[in-house]
Amino acid sequence: MKRMPPTCFRLGIAAALLASAVPAQEPPPESPDAQSRAGANQTKAIRVNEAIFEATGFGNAMMVATSEGNVIIDTSIAGQAARCWKLLQAENGGPVKYIILTHGHGDHTGGVELWKQAGTQVIAQRNHVEFMNYQARLNGFFARRNAAQFGMSIPEPRAWPGNYGAKIEPTILFDDRYEFTLGGVKFQVYHTPGETPDHLTVWIPKYRAAFVGDNFYGSFPNMYTLRGTEPRWALDYVHSLDKVLALKPEIVIPSHGRPIHGAVAIVTQLTRYRDAIQYVHDAVVKGMNSGKDVFTLMREIKLPANLEVGESYGRLTWSIRGIYEGYAGWFDGNPATMYETSPSSAFPELVKLAGGPDRVAQSAMERVKAGQFAEALRLTDAALAADPRHTRTLQVRIEALKALRERSNNSNERGWLDYAIQAIHKE
Ligand SMILES: [Zn+2]
Repeated sequence: MKRMPPTCFRLGIAAALLASAVPAQEPPPESPDAQSRAGANQTKAIRVNEAIFEATGFGNAMMVATSEGNVIIDTSIAGQAARCWKLLQAENGGPVKYIILTHGHGDHTGGVELWKQAGTQVIAQRNHVEFMNYQARLNGFFARRNAAQFGMSIPEPRAWPGNYGAKIEPTILFDDRYEFTLGGVKFQVYHTPGETPDHLTVWIPKYRAAFVGDNFYGSFPNMYTLRGTEPRWALDYVHSLDKVLALKPEIVIPSHGRPIHGAVAIVTQLTRYRDAIQYVHDAVVKGMNSGKDVFTLMREIKLPANLEVGESYGRLTWSIRGIYEGYAGWFDGNPATMYETSPSSAFPELVKLAGGPDRVAQSAMERVKAGQFAEALRLTDAALAADPRHTRTLQVRIEALKALRERSNNSNERGWLDYAIQAIHKE
């Protein structure tokens, strides 16, 4: 949006690859950037069992120790990788034989360089290569959007590395399944797409332990993330969660949040999660077939109480729209949408007809007082299209944004609201 040029923020820190995370089974953090500090006060790695250790971070880094060396599963984000590395090294300083990346988001790949030794094999699913290139291809776009979402300063624009400019670390790429044995411990790696197309699950039969990456965490999944994403297919999550459940794990270790112990707790939590996703997917598809538009479905579809999994990170309404537009793309059936004339092109004329931006700002304020904050934002959009620096409108807009922030329990939503408030103050 023109009103919030990224240049109004100072040069930021490396927020670029923050991607997709949530502390499972923990209350949502107060400020969006609190997620990036997850585990900051941890002084000792979590001992999951006799061989598995976890350093908490954004996201977690896990180590499986064997008599012939260690396997690292995910490496956290670059800014936290060294801290995680220290915690895990303190538990076992053996050679790192393998690094397995559950997927190519930056909060999982940030410490590969740190852990890699001569002869370390790095394992990823084959789609990792295109996924990394996709992220690098759009690095300027994602850098800005990530920074806004996670409460960090907006970085300066970066050079485009080209379409295939990503650094590809893995030495072993597999399609559906890969298996190896180290120190007598068998590791099985399965392709389990969901949050990303390259997502995998690590299964260790000896410990009945499944490392599920970001396909499960303590909130409805971020099936559409506000920072922007290619479609994350609901049915992929469902099938991948089924695959994990079929292994009958007794320990599930997500890459965000705490491990889950015990078959009963695991079946209960993963089944509910899977069913919640399936429920929303099917409701969207039924609505699409019956001719309902996306906004109607965003308002109408609610999870039944027994499938409530929380919305502190992913949010139902965004996923509903993500599923709808993932299947159908951007065209809404309105002929006006076929053309490059934006919906807001009519706003200045409408504001004039309404008596000018003062009148519209007044109407927006009445909406705020009535608790209709999103409607108030829409009215301020119109008034600001007519006069981008209209003081009264900007004041009302801040009030609406603050009210939405106040009632939000979703960290991504809060990130974008904070970003919008700051942008007006810095204008
Ligand atoms: Zn993540």
